[in-house]
Amino acid sequence: SPVILWLRRDLRLTDHPALSAAVAQGRPVIPVFIHDDALAELGAAPKWRLGLGLEALEKALRDKGSRLILRRGPALDSLRDLIAETGARAVYWSRLYDPQAQTRDAAVKDALKAQDIEARSFGGHLMFEPWTVATKTGGYYRVYTPMWNAVRGREVDAPLSAPSRIPAPDAWPASDTLDSWRMGAAMNRGADVVRPHVRLGEGAAQDRLAEFIDRWVGVYDKTRDQPHVAGTSLLSENLALGEISPHQCWHAGQRALAEGKAGAETFLKELVWREFAYHLMYHTPHLLTGNWKPDWDAFGWNEDEDHPHVIAWKQGRTGIRFVDAAMREMYVTGRMHNRGRMIVASYLTKHLMTHWKIGLKWFEDCLIDWDPASNAMGWQWAAGSGPDAAPYFRVFNPVTQLDKFDPKGNYVAQWIAEGRKTPSDTALSYFRAIPRHWGLTPQDPYPAPVVTAEDGRKAALAAYENRGF
Ligand code: FAD
Repeated sequence: SPVILWLRRDLRLTDHPALSAAVAQGRPVIPVFIHDDALAELGAAPKWRLGLGLEALEKALRDKGSRLILRRGPALDSLRDLIAETGARAVYWSRLYDPQAQTRDAAVKDALKAQDIEARSFGGHLMFEPWTVATKTGGYYRVYTPMWNAVRGREVDAPLSAPSRIPAPDAWPASDTLDSWRMGAAMNRGADVVRPHVRLGEGAAQDRLAEFIDRWVGVYDKTRDQPHVAGTSLLSENLALGEISPHQCWHAGQRALAEGKAGAETFLKELVWREFAYHLMYHTPHLLTGNWKPDWDAFGWNEDEDHPHVIAWKQGRTGIRFVDAAMREMYVTGRMHNRGRMIVASYLTKHLMTHWKIGLKWFEDCLIDWDPASNAMGWQWAAGSGPDAAPYFRVFNPVTQLDKFDPKGNYVAQWIAEGRKTPSDTALSYFRAIPRHWGLTPQDPYPAPVVTAEDGRKAALAAYENRGF
């Protein structure tokens, strides 16, 4: 009887413990992806990107003699249908850690087991399962550095190779077509503008990892803060969908460290920031939905999404160049440099005194590397409401930050067209990506700041002091 491999955010064949275990059974494997309610809630860009990822995975599976079956509906119902149709007696999957998936998966496991079906979940999305990392007193880590110290010396499983072939069933069950799911329907921006910026699929992710280790990791300490340089791994998009495993990145980073490459340890530390985000989300799921520190509930943030300041922020028209360049970068590429993320989040929550949830949601709609844990942790860090957060009084100055990290104006030239005789193609591409009803053109004058760096800082600090934090 076949094994059903229920794929979710593990769109790869290499270093895939659930797939390897299924193949090791020596029985036919039926890979399936289910479009359930959780998917309906995904933001526009992540959903579109997931659609591309599924298309790439389907091709990779076909090269191994297999297929990807697509089903729509509640996960348990879809799995039960498949079990009835194929005679499968086992369902394997890779674990996810957000509260919604946890609840669903636990219910699926119980129900299948009650039907005498083998239901097994595997690791692979994380290097360190959240329940295996604990403080000396048995609690979870609220602060990054002690967690880094706790895991840095741990053995991380060596990556598994991809199976050479995946045994197919005698007959394939019916499948939806991916087109019928219209995964790009909510992408009201020019998807063709964003498409060239996508690094799609497992092969591309592995090539990028090799290139990063070869060319960039040695100077990562220096280049990782330069927003116009592609000096970071750019792998977040692939990690988010499991097109590469963190284990592969970790081992490549460890080899670079052993070879004395300067930025390798910093890269390993970044991978552990991702683990830390998951650790926090697992142990304190309210990280996703509300102020991690509840005393922030009383802070007088603007919560009006239609406020002109919020619209200016979303459209990259705040008049603050670093903020606008970064917001446009995200709109066009589906990614934003980490320095940019910190600056735009700080500007929204402090200078514009707007609730971080509004920013979180916009990122969720725009980022092709959207990740529930890293996004929520990043926003709460920037706003000051999270664990291990930037103290509220440390307000980034988006003007001096630009002088520091973009002294030659390369990043700004890359993304801002207004006021230039010959704008760069990337800067112009923003105007091809945005909806017409925004009414913006490259010939517009560049706007004056909606809130200046100095005024925003003063107002934020005054509000903070008034609250008596
Ligand atoms: P690299 O510098 O090459 O780092 C390697 C990997 O380490 C990344 O791919 C990522 O998986 C992990 N990593 C690096 N920095 C962080 C971090 N601060 N937190 C958690 N993991 C990290 N990252 C996402 O993957 N998805 C998000 O939705 C997301 N939203 C963010 C929102 C805000 C407000 C902030 C401040 C940060 C957010 N980040 C998010 C974290 C970080 O900005 C990105 O992971 C990073 O820019 C990705 O680029 P890279 O792959 O080239 O990273």
